[in-house]
Formats: sequence, C-alpha cells, structure tokens
Amino acid sequence: MGRIAPQEVPERERREDGSYVDQVPIELTELIGPADPVVAEEEDRTPPPPPPSPELASRASFEVFFEIRPSRLGGLGAFAVRELLRGQTILVERPLLWTTHFRLLPDFHKLSETAREAFLSLHSGEGDRFSKVERIKKLNSFVVPGGIAIFEIASRFNHACPSARNVQYVFDSERGVLSLTVCQDVVPAGTELTISYGTSTIDLYSTYGFRCACGGCTPLTDDDIRKLEGTEYGNWEW
Ligand SMILES: [Zn+2]
Repeated sequence: MGRIAPQEVPERERREDGSYVDQVPIELTELIGPADPVVAEEEDRTPPPPPPSPELASRASFEVFFEIRPSRLGGLGAFAVRELLRGQTILVERPLLWTTHFRLLPDFHKLSETAREAFLSLHSGEGDRFSKVERIKKLNSFVVPGGIAIFEIASRFNHACPSARNVQYVFDSERGVLSLTVCQDVVPAGTELTISYGTSTIDLYSTYGFRCACGGCTPLTDDDIRKLEGTEYGNWEW
C-alpha cells in the first residue's frame, strides 16, 4: 500500500449552488479492495469440508453381515458371514477423515489418537517417495463432495469391476455417511464382498498398483504392462 503522490490529490468538486465539497481522500478509498488474491484463490479452490468425524456409525451392526479378514486379493478384505440379498444395507459409516488432498496432513493431525491409530492401520503399500499418511490416502480414499474421505471399515473392501462387484456405495453428504448396499441377487456366506474403485484396468494399475483379475474385466497382459512403463500410468511404485 503506497503513499499518495501529491499530484494525485483530487481537485475540489463544485456543487450546483456554487459551494465546494471535498472529495473522499484517496488514501481511504485505496484501503477498500479485494483481499489478498493468494488467500482468496486458495479458499476458492479448497472449500473447507465439514469437520472430520472420528466415530464409527455402526460397528456392532456390520458384524451381523460381514467380517474383516485376510484376502487372497491381498491385505484384508470383507467377507459375508451369512447369505446376503440384493438391497440389504450392510454398513453405514462415518469417515475417519473427510478432507481434501491439500488439507490431508493438517486434518490428519487434528484426529483423536484412536482415530489416528485406526487410520494408520489401513493398507499403506510400500515405498519412501511419499509419507505413510499420503500412501494410505492414495490407497483408501473415496471421492466425496468437497474432497475425499477415508473410512476404517469401508476402506477395507477390495475391488471388483462393475459387472463383478457385489456391493455398491453411496455417500450422503448431508448426514456425512457412506452406505454400502448389496447389488447382486444372492451373495453366499463366505464370499468376499467387493466394491468398484473404477472402470479402467489401466487406472487401477496406475493408481492402486494391481492388475485386476476380478472376472468382470479383460485383465492387462504382460505386454500391456510393458507398454505402460515409462508413461504416466506405469509409475505406481511409491
Ligand atoms: Zn476387474
């Protein structure tokens, strides 16, 4: 905010009756302007999401439908403990963390100790290019209004492509909960429950680092993988 050069002092304005009125000093009007554009732009780009809610909506209720245990797909997975039918809601869960890519770390550090421990117990993959918190975000996030959300239970579900998955999900941003619902007619007890992370096997490989073999897609071949190496899709090791 610079000082006003003398030549910028306005001339007096003459009223119709011949009297003069002093104009508003420029120094005062100069103070009225847009906020610091860097701050404004940043706020526009990342609207603050609702505060993170570290509690589980219904831990006791989901155990009637499924359990979390090791999966042949890797890491842990969710398995039906009884026969499930189309339309059954098997989980209603609040996020451990509802944030944006930009606010991940500060929001993570605001979590309670219990919620932080739950977050850090999620699958993180390997690598030292990114921090563990960032790796967990990358492997476990759901895209939701206002950014991304990470869940203690729902993030355990493994992937199957849309024609093979047996569970679908919807996020209710007003209530701030994710609901998982069975989307096949009958799912026998013991079946691994899966949701779709995406429809492109190339994106699945580049984002999550696995070659989908769910039975509902055409798996990538070794040749496909070789072609992806050296492109933006091939570099998933972090
Ligand atoms: Zn697939």
